[in-house]
Amino acid sequence: MEVYNDYFGQFGGRYVAENLRGPLDQLEIHFRNAMSDSDFLKEISDFGKEYIGRPTPLLFAENASRAMGGGDIYIKLEGLANTGAHKINNAAGQAILAKKMGKTRIIAETGAGQHGVATAAVCARLGLKCRIYMGSEDIKRQRPNVFLMEMFGAEVFPVDSGSRTLKDAVNEALRDWASTSDETHYLIGSALGPSPYPDMVREFQSVIGKEVLMEGEKRSLNVKAMVACVGGGSNAIGFFEPFIENETPRLIGAEAGGLGPEEGKHAARMTGKGKTGIIQGYKSKFLYDKDGQIVKTHSISAGLDYPGIGPQLAYLGTTGRVEFTEVNDEEALEALRFFALNEGIIFALESAHAGAAGLKIASEYSPGEAVIINMSGRGDKDIFITAKALQKDKWFEFLNEETANG
Ligand SMILES: *Cc1c(COP(=O)(O)O)cnc(C)c1O
Repeated sequence: MEVYNDYFGQFGGRYVAENLRGPLDQLEIHFRNAMSDSDFLKEISDFGKEYIGRPTPLLFAENASRAMGGGDIYIKLEGLANTGAHKINNAAGQAILAKKMGKTRIIAETGAGQHGVATAAVCARLGLKCRIYMGSEDIKRQRPNVFLMEMFGAEVFPVDSGSRTLKDAVNEALRDWASTSDETHYLIGSALGPSPYPDMVREFQSVIGKEVLMEGEKRSLNVKAMVACVGGGSNAIGFFEPFIENETPRLIGAEAGGLGPEEGKHAARMTGKGKTGIIQGYKSKFLYDKDGQIVKTHSISAGLDYPGIGPQLAYLGTTGRVEFTEVNDEEALEALRFFALNEGIIFALESAHAGAAGLKIASEYSPGEAVIINMSGRGDKDIFITAKALQKDKWFEFLNEETANG
């Protein structure tokens, strides 16, 4: 095991077994070269326009702003991207890079299934073979996303080891990659993992922030704060990217407060509950117990219950450039309902955490001062959770009918 560079303060690095060093070195070289290759950048940009639907709109949420009486709330509608969330920006970037490297096969891990769906879609479009590792517990819980991945022709590979969830799927994907890297690229889904993944995922997601910057300048917005939800951290770091080196605006990350502060009930790593550690190839803040075991987490949104956070955000949290706040399950649902009623927009449950935090922060400002919320995804995918939470009886009646008539 050797420690490489590519740190953000003390966080990050490349803490991997010998047999993964070669593939990571090769990936790093190709990634760095590609980022200064104008043909590659044009291909990414064209793919974004034609297939993903970029640029996504920046909406002035006028009704919401008036109802709250504070600053002007803007929403970056990233959920209008193809497949419904920001994850496709990274999946597309890495898959196009992999193709350029001569790879013919993509593997990925997925927990809730959103990253698996984005990866499978992009592979279908680009003609790449695709295997998605997924814990068998997660496969049971996330049937709709498994269905979509299979529609896109991906092989969803069940992982039966350990707790049969995301971390076991990651281990399995790493094992695959160590022996197949000649033809295979491992497509990590958030801004974490061993270097160069945190840099690479941030760069491919920075299109979100760049569009916000351009649009903000075009409309002469006086942007005071930007708010994003933080699971692994990819939508947040991409949204923040063009602003990190400046002193303003305020950058705010919303973590899952879940059901409360007790261990196992939340997924808040940056508000005093996470501890520094080295897990799955990188150093960052994680939720683990006194024996070094990852603890269970909870969030109403499946995409925010990851026990770790990308190393750059961990670093920016300790320097204070990014502020972190917690939003609990109930507040997220409340925000979901508020934006649906006032703006006709259904946030993904993950993004609703940013929505809730954004509403709070906007109340600290006045009209003419802008707070921008990143709606990382749209909420169609959550209907099994939100309909159960908000209209339980009618929803169960519907499900029973469906089963009875099946
Ligand atoms: C996966 C997901 C997230 C969390 O992942 P990040 O890497 O933190 O962005 C947030 N929102 C949506 C809609 C997601 O699908």
